[in-house]
Amino acid sequence: MSVDYLRISVTDRCNLRCVYCNPLGDCGFFEHKEILRFEEIERITGLLTECGISKIRLTGGEPLVRKDIVRLVGKLAALPAIDSLALTTNGVLLEGLAGQLKAAGLQRVNISVDSARRDSYRNITGFDLLPKVTKGIYKAIEAGLAPVKINSVIIKGVNDSEEQIAALAEMSIRLPLTVRFIEYCPTGKHTNPASDYFPNSEVRAIIERKYGPLSSVVEGHSNGPALNFKIKDSVGGIGFISGRTSTFCCSCNRLRLTSNGKLMPCLYSAHTYDLKQLIRSGASNRQILDLLGRAINEKSNYTKLNSLNEDFSMCKVGG
Ligand code: SAM
Repeated sequence: MSVDYLRISVTDRCNLRCVYCNPLGDCGFFEHKEILRFEEIERITGLLTECGISKIRLTGGEPLVRKDIVRLVGKLAALPAIDSLALTTNGVLLEGLAGQLKAAGLQRVNISVDSARRDSYRNITGFDLLPKVTKGIYKAIEAGLAPVKINSVIIKGVNDSEEQIAALAEMSIRLPLTVRFIEYCPTGKHTNPASDYFPNSEVRAIIERKYGPLSSVVEGHSNGPALNFKIKDSVGGIGFISGRTSTFCCSCNRLRLTSNGKLMPCLYSAHTYDLKQLIRSGASNRQILDLLGRAINEKSNYTKLNSLNEDFSMCKVGG
C-alpha cells in the first residue's frame, strides 16, 4: 500500500472534554513553544509531498481553536502536490469559519457529533453546544465543504440506545451528508474498550429495524476504512468504520504528525520520529527526507493493532 495520506494534529487543545478523548479530564497540554509553527508544518508537509503524500487532513485537539487556522489552510492548499485537503472538527466554531476555510482552499469537513439528543451530547462532551454545532453543520453544507461527514462514536451505555442511533441516522435522510458510525477504539489504560465497545453490526441492525434495509453505495474515490450505505430515499448516506471488528493495517495509507512534531507511522505507534527536534537543530532537507523515508519504511511493520502505548492520548495524537 503506498503512503499518500498525512493527518496533521495542529494543536492538542480542545474546547470540548469528550469522555473518550479525556477519560481522566485534562491530561496537561503542550507548552506553546513545543507546538509546531506554521512554517515548520509547511516545510514538513512540502518534503512529505516529495515522498508521495498528496492528501492532508487537519485534526487535533480541536483544529479550529488554533489561532490563524485559515492562514495555515491557505498555505497547505497552495502546495502543488496536494490534491485533497480536509479537516476534522467538533464543529463548535464552524459557523463563523466555514466560508473562510472554503475560500482558503479547504475541500471537506468531518464533524464529530456523538448524539443528536441535546442532553446526551452535553453528557458526552461536557458542554451544551449541540445547537451551535448544528448551525456549523448547516454552514458547512452551505459553504460547499462537500461531502460533509458526521463522525459518531457509539459507546455502550452512553449513546447506544435505539432512539439515539436512529436520530443520528435520520440526519442522513434529510441532509446532504454522510453519518459515519465509528467503533470505539482503545485509548490507553484508563478506558475499558472491551466492555464499552458497541459493534457496528448492532448499530446497523438498529438502523435497519427503524428505516428498512440499507443499500450499499459504490463510490469512485477511496473512502479509507469506511463502508458506505444509504437508507431508502435519503439525501445523504450512512458509513461504518469498524476498527474493532476488523483491522485495516494492510490497507492503511496514512502517517500522523502530532502537534509537537512527532511523526507516527501508525495511530498506535510506540515509536515516533522527532521532526521538530531535527528541524530546530538546523537539519538540511536531505537529512529530514532521510528520516521521513525511514518512517514510511517502518509502516510496513504494522500488520495488526498490537502496540497500544500506555500513555496514548487521542487528543495529543490527533484522532
Ligand atoms: N476535535 C476534533 C473533533 O472532535 O472531531 C478532532 C479531534 S477528534 C480526536 C477526531 C475524531 O476522533 C473524532 O471524530 C472522534 O470522535 C474520534 N475519536 C476520538 N476518540 C476515539 C475513540 N476512542 N475511538 C474512536 N474514535 C475516536
